[in-house]
Amino acid sequence: MEKTTNQNQIKPRRTFAIISHPDAGKTTLTEKLLFFGGAIRLAGTVKGRKAAKYATSDWMQIEKERGISVTSSAMQFSYNGIHINILDTPGHEDFSEDTYRTLMAADSAVMLIDLVKGVEAQTIKLFKVCRMRGIPIFTFINKLDRFGKDPLDVLQEIEDVLGINTVPLNWPVGMGKDFSAIYDRRHQCLELYRDGERKRIEAGERGLEDPALKDCLEPALYDKLREDLELLDIAGDPFDEEMIQEGMLSPVFFGSALSSIGVQTFLEQFLEMAPEPRPQKSSVGYIQPTDPQFSGFIFKIQANMNPAHRDRIAFMRVCSGRFERGMAANHVRSGKKIKLPQPQQFLAQERDILEEAYPGDVVGLFDPGIFRIGDTLSEEGTFEFEKLPQFAPEYFAKIINLDFSKYKQFQKGIKQLTEEGTVQVFRTFMDGPEELIVGVVGKLQFEVLEYRLENEYGTRIQLHHLLHHMARWVRSDKLVDPANLRGLRNLCVKDQDDQMVVLLEDEYYLDRLKDKYPEITFHTSSND
Ligand code: GDP
Repeated sequence: MEKTTNQNQIKPRRTFAIISHPDAGKTTLTEKLLFFGGAIRLAGTVKGRKAAKYATSDWMQIEKERGISVTSSAMQFSYNGIHINILDTPGHEDFSEDTYRTLMAADSAVMLIDLVKGVEAQTIKLFKVCRMRGIPIFTFINKLDRFGKDPLDVLQEIEDVLGINTVPLNWPVGMGKDFSAIYDRRHQCLELYRDGERKRIEAGERGLEDPALKDCLEPALYDKLREDLELLDIAGDPFDEEMIQEGMLSPVFFGSALSSIGVQTFLEQFLEMAPEPRPQKSSVGYIQPTDPQFSGFIFKIQANMNPAHRDRIAFMRVCSGRFERGMAANHVRSGKKIKLPQPQQFLAQERDILEEAYPGDVVGLFDPGIFRIGDTLSEEGTFEFEKLPQFAPEYFAKIINLDFSKYKQFQKGIKQLTEEGTVQVFRTFMDGPEELIVGVVGKLQFEVLEYRLENEYGTRIQLHHLLHHMARWVRSDKLVDPANLRGLRNLCVKDQDDQMVVLLEDEYYLDRLKDKYPEITFHTSSND
């Protein structure tokens, strides 16, 4: 078939992830976005994934039918002709490296902040990854229907804690039970939410003084709005499209996902500003989404936890060209040409089969065990996309193989799970016999490790959890004596490539080492 440009498929595509701390309202917001896009009919106060009524993405269908736990999945829907991919970033107890990796497949991020709680720990971690990638970050401050921090203070907190400038594009009128309107600064109009309806009142030439607008609000709320807006006009950052695209300035929106206030406005303005699929770095320079040849990379592998269905799904972001169902592509790492079957093809009901996909889209591929995180697939080329970064583990445990006759399987399992990125493995090399230590980003990964070693490799293990919460790769121009780094509280280990790593309980111990050995630098991963 002759190759045609896919430009008209790229322009209307937006692929983003929502980053937040658990309970900020990500599920509620996602559900409302799907509702506005017509992807689900029922948007109420349905609680998350536990409810059968919730969401209707293809993946959830698979999850239901096959018992596959599909977490970092993509939900697709359309709004006003824009094709949207929301990448799900697992939070709560299933927070893991996958959550970070998903951000590698996103072109922009929506940072969701709870007005009552402000900037929280998980948001900070995810924000840093987005910052590292330089993708635009849009902020939605949620739960204005509750009494929380002053909006100006939250903006200050974002700037202080995260170090990003903000430009509020709308401003809340009131808070808690008084919250029923937002002022759209860009379009200069008031959005009133009454009886489930959204009503826009344009500010005429007289701006805020316009009686049509002024009369809609209680005097006290009106005065506060005017005061806040005046302050923002004087002291706030100006709107700067370039800075937004570079991820240096975050447009801020206020609202309540639960009460559907400000959500649709947010969606519309976000879609206007969010970038279309970006070029991706590779070994031969940037690969443009408009390149006619299909290419993509694997950012996540989901193993089936159900022993009756051992298959795995590799999630691929399409980066260029056009993906067609069942097509063949070069698996660059192995040098083989392979057929790319999708997991949906194995289902009885095939109505949700994806026939084609374009840059920005996520495709789930059936994985017979050949894919690794970061693998490149390319229709013709042999280039490789930039390696996905490794993220510093935060939980550690000594791992003991309980069944010595299964030592080979144990080793094979550990090797496989390390390659997949489920765990990072370290070994002790001082004081007595070598011991294996596994490090993970999220605690649930320990359970996955235990479960899979038993079910897929037939071995039983015991984990001894350690008190350490940080791993730092040690580098210096001079020879480092590991005995200096080891201490009552620190552990000196080696990673798979024999690089020296120190495990620490917290920042305090790291600072002590830094003070004592200024010639050593401490890195959060082996490749930074
Ligand atoms: P997630 O953990 O980030 O996915 O958060 P959820 O969407 O599950 O929301 C956590 C809790 O906050 C639930 O009880 C929601 O009903 C509630 N919630 C979400 N958005 C709002 C909001 O705008 N206002 C209020 N008052 N509660 C909200």
